[in-house]
Amino acid sequence: MNIFNKTRLIFSFFLTIISFCAYSQANVFKVTLDAGHGDHDFGAVYSGRIEKNIALAIVLKVGKILEDSPNVNVIYTRKSDVFIDLVERANIANRANSNIFVSIHCNANKNTAADGTETYVMGLSKVASNLEAAKKENSVITLEKDYKRKYEGYDPNSPESMIGMTLMQEEYLDNSIALASKIEDNFDRLGKKLRQGGVKQAPFMVLHKAYMPRVLVETGFVSNPTEGNILNSEEGQNDIAKAIAEAILSYKREYFGSGAPEIMDARPAKDTAKPKTVIAAPASNKNATKGTFFKVQLIASIKKTPLEPKNFKGLKNVTMLYENNIYKYFYQETSDYEAAQKYLQEAKSKGYGASFLVATKDGEKISIQDATK
Ligand SMILES: [Zn+2]
Repeated sequence: MNIFNKTRLIFSFFLTIISFCAYSQANVFKVTLDAGHGDHDFGAVYSGRIEKNIALAIVLKVGKILEDSPNVNVIYTRKSDVFIDLVERANIANRANSNIFVSIHCNANKNTAADGTETYVMGLSKVASNLEAAKKENSVITLEKDYKRKYEGYDPNSPESMIGMTLMQEEYLDNSIALASKIEDNFDRLGKKLRQGGVKQAPFMVLHKAYMPRVLVETGFVSNPTEGNILNSEEGQNDIAKAIAEAILSYKREYFGSGAPEIMDARPAKDTAKPKTVIAAPASNKNATKGTFFKVQLIASIKKTPLEPKNFKGLKNVTMLYENNIYKYFYQETSDYEAAQKYLQEAKSKGYGASFLVATKDGEKISIQDATK
């Protein structure tokens, strides 16, 4: 064998390895687990039952089960007793391109009879008890250095003030609810051990900053003597961890690489029943243009759809990006925020009711808030 052939052989060998690695990476479901609080931020403390310790113990147990499952990569915001800023917790998940973000906490109430699990998705709420839970968890930002600058425009005493900070991200709501429901359903299977409080919605800062399906689990009340003791026990933590981990795996089976859309279509429900035909080649997301741009994300799907107006309710200038095993379809692109808002209204009026704006800077995704600064 001459040098040329040898080199070619070695080259193709490495090419195979690289494509295999790329393939396996694409099939790995990434879960970021966030144990609430840490270090000098104890969370709720009642009769020696400490939220930060319980949350970490449960997270490590959930992580262990997930790590033993095939094609799951677990990312932890913390694995020890350390303090991490709320926004950094979300950013850990954002940087890892996680498929889901699961934040784990314990609830508490002066009324020690209060009990039950609650799994929250991000969103507005008028329910006082939901807002109270969000206020309690969001208030930890005041322990962070320079929090007033970092969370500009946000008043920790008023969770509703988050609404004014940026556009609400509704794109992950359906998936977040699906995951939250699975978690709550599994808690129900624990029998009478924990009362199932159900899926709720409230403006949690840590969820707000994570750009993926995201939930926050209040695993029960440390303030309630009976429930608190379950939360503080090895057996109780094992049960809760198993319920959460199995819900995550069930979500993975249903929404990740199974043929169903990974991120649910933002189109009206009646439209989504029939799968679309797939022909087009993926659009390139390389050669990023310098500068800040806005575009309207219409839908995201694991299905590839030809970029023709007839497939997008007549909308022209639709582009596609393949990211995280899903195809994202965008309408228009402009550096003008006002023009972008007009395009968004147009998309909504065409029937893309849950479409939303995304922003990029030099080709990298950034928040709308940062883009409009
Ligand atoms: Zn907490």
